[in-house]
Amino acid sequence: MNRVAITVAGIGDAGFANLRGADRDHRSRLQRRWPAFSFLLRLRRSALAPFVVLFVVLTLSAESPGAPQAKIWEEFSGEKALAHVQRLVDLGPRPPGSGAIEKSRDYIENQLRLSGWQVTRQAFTDDTPRGKVQFLNLIARFPGQRSTGPSFLLCSHYDTKTFDTIRFVGANDGGSSTGLLLELGRVLGRHPNLAAKIELVFFDGEEAYEHFSEHDGLYGSRYFARQLGGSGAKQFRGGILFDMVGNRSLKITLPADSPAEMARDVFASAEALKLRSHFTYLDREMIDDHMPLNEIGIPTIDVIDFSFPWWHTAEDTMDKLSAQSLQIVGSVAAYYLSEFALK
Ligand SMILES: [Zn+2]
Repeated sequence: MNRVAITVAGIGDAGFANLRGADRDHRSRLQRRWPAFSFLLRLRRSALAPFVVLFVVLTLSAESPGAPQAKIWEEFSGEKALAHVQRLVDLGPRPPGSGAIEKSRDYIENQLRLSGWQVTRQAFTDDTPRGKVQFLNLIARFPGQRSTGPSFLLCSHYDTKTFDTIRFVGANDGGSSTGLLLELGRVLGRHPNLAAKIELVFFDGEEAYEHFSEHDGLYGSRYFARQLGGSGAKQFRGGILFDMVGNRSLKITLPADSPAEMARDVFASAEALKLRSHFTYLDREMIDDHMPLNEIGIPTIDVIDFSFPWWHTAEDTMDKLSAQSLQIVGSVAAYYLSEFALK
């Protein structure tokens, strides 16, 4: 039904003239299957005809339960994601508590709002090896009628590691996943039914000042998980954490502690898009922001490329990234959300 409506919408007066000469059987078959077709044929000389056709088409399109789902993975733009990363990197090093990270927050918030998201700031202070530091997570939800709230988390850290001796701008580590998540937010914002199921979280303070431990590193995700607690966690059936996803020679290395079913479905998504060769398993676990979420019972997978030679060096710069890599991760993630996680 939907296809017939769209076909009719595509033909003007000339098309109707051709239709008059068309096979009579075909026309009567259309009339039998779709009575409104006769009505349209009678209307064709009226000045109102184009509007009536448009109305009928819009009504039918909206009501067609069998209308094919949008392929949201085709809407993801690696170029747009990379442009976000560039804007963040242009701010310079963005360690917690700095003026530059505050500017990056403004940028993230503005971009999310442009895509229709409502953003809240989750501010807190924590003890670090460098004394008390102020951190701030950004949490975005899509306004809608859904009474149950979102059920799936998409996360990235947006801080860059504090270094005293090098200028560290974290193009890949902190930048790439944040740019990717902003672009995913734009794509999801075009599909409010999907977006309403999602909460976007941008963690502060992922990086350790010295060494990862219970008291150093993962500040934002640990606080977020504590605030959610056991009961709040029940609302979320899963999550994806993105980290270091822009490497030109992309090799996503899913940590060994990935929830098995999620890893399987991510691989299947990559396979479906003929991108499977960019995805593999890491031979070990990974300390990252997915851990506090898994600990409170939200199965969360860390989509990370840990084969990045410039990790935590001054060379983690824009020239190591490509729009194509962001495109690969973004489209696989969108496919996974649409065809698995949010089904
Ligand atoms: Zn790092």
